[in-house]
Amino acid sequence: FINHMKLEFLSIPANVAFARVTVAAFASQLDFTLADLEEIKVAVSEAVGNSIVHGYGKAPDCFVRIYANLTQDALEIRIEDEGKGIEDIKMALQPAFSTDAERLGLGFVFMQSFMENFRVESAPGRGTKVMMSK
Ligand code: ATP
Ligand code: MG
Repeated sequence: FINHMKLEFLSIPANVAFARVTVAAFASQLDFTLADLEEIKVAVSEAVGNSIVHGYGKAPDCFVRIYANLTQDALEIRIEDEGKGIEDIKMALQPAFSTDAERLGLGFVFMQSFMENFRVESAPGRGTKVMMSK
């Protein structure tokens, strides 16, 4: 890779926007279109929001970490938490599946449609890692 970043921040809602703009600023070192950067922002927001809301159950004193690489022509990113983890990943990835009746269950759908090489690693009690690139 030609550049690398690591970001660690508290699990509070204000940091969704912080993470989104920080990753977009980093990614803009490559010549992404504005539309690409917007899609990256949505994917980051959805993953970070999931860590805060689902992973940590809105507890504000936990940490979310983001690692990102820039290669000559791509952004590679990993967003991780040490929260409760996902019991059934296949089910969690289904459009409109949510463990919260108030939610639409579309976060993973956005991540998958806006990014490439999308992958989730998670297990109950073991936290969650979302890997994706663009
Ligand atoms: P929306 O994103 O539309 O608000 P949602 O968050 O429920 O709704 P997804 O983002 O697609 O939908 O996530 C699907 C489900 O996967 C969640 O309801 C939750 O049960 C589980 N999940 C996702 N991310 C995590 C995480 N970091 N830790 C624990 N569970 C997660
Ligand atoms: Mg979500």
